[in-house]
Amino acid sequence: MRVETHIYRTIVDGVLAHRLTPGTKLPEPELCQLFDVGRAVVRRVLERLAHDGIVTLRPNKGAVIAEPTPEETREIFEARRALERALVELAVARVTDEDLAMLRRQLDAEHAAMHRFDQPSWARLASDFHLRVAALAGNAVLLRYLGELISRCSLIVGLYEPPGYAPCEHDEHTAIVACIERRDAAGAIDRMQSHLEELERRIETTRMRGQKSLASLLGLPETGTAQRDAVTPSAESAKSTIRPRT
Ligand SMILES: [Zn+2]
Repeated sequence: MRVETHIYRTIVDGVLAHRLTPGTKLPEPELCQLFDVGRAVVRRVLERLAHDGIVTLRPNKGAVIAEPTPEETREIFEARRALERALVELAVARVTDEDLAMLRRQLDAEHAAMHRFDQPSWARLASDFHLRVAALAGNAVLLRYLGELISRCSLIVGLYEPPGYAPCEHDEHTAIVACIERRDAAGAIDRMQSHLEELERRIETTRMRGQKSLASLLGLPETGTAQRDAVTPSAESAKSTIRPRT
């Protein structure tokens, strides 16, 4: 994998697992050191993240994880409902028995993470669930747009939800899979819509912010200069369960 893709995915993974919350600073020198790359590489990645709405570039002040406004939040959820409606309908039309077995395994993994109280894994798995259903639709363009929207939704959940809150209710995912299994397109659309409406409703105005080191937020090993004392226990446990994909 190209180093730029690796850095991009590590940051997006941090967002999806709610380890990187809105407003978190992404200093260029620290990123260069953590990934052992030059400034030009880091800048290209940050520009791509800014283009996808994940990062905000502030002139002369560097990059931060984006903080979606209430208006952007409304638009992102509206877009996501429209997109997932189309995707789940296509998924029902094309799903195979093998796909259904894969979705069941996905639900089992979510359930296991939920009972381990492993919130970062659960948050990541919950996003994966939506992407897996979307992948069954067999439309790479729609899937790519959903990936972007889900990353931005994770930012909103990280911004408003209290710590330890899962973005999706596991039972709601189970109900969606049951409809897909029955090839009940209308039911699957209905369940998906109400699930996404519920997700938007659950968002609270509590801001979640921590004083964690950039390395721990990215799920990378601490470097000598990192502020170890500032790492909270929850960030430590997140680090032990989530590793960057290489
Ligand atoms: Zn969900």
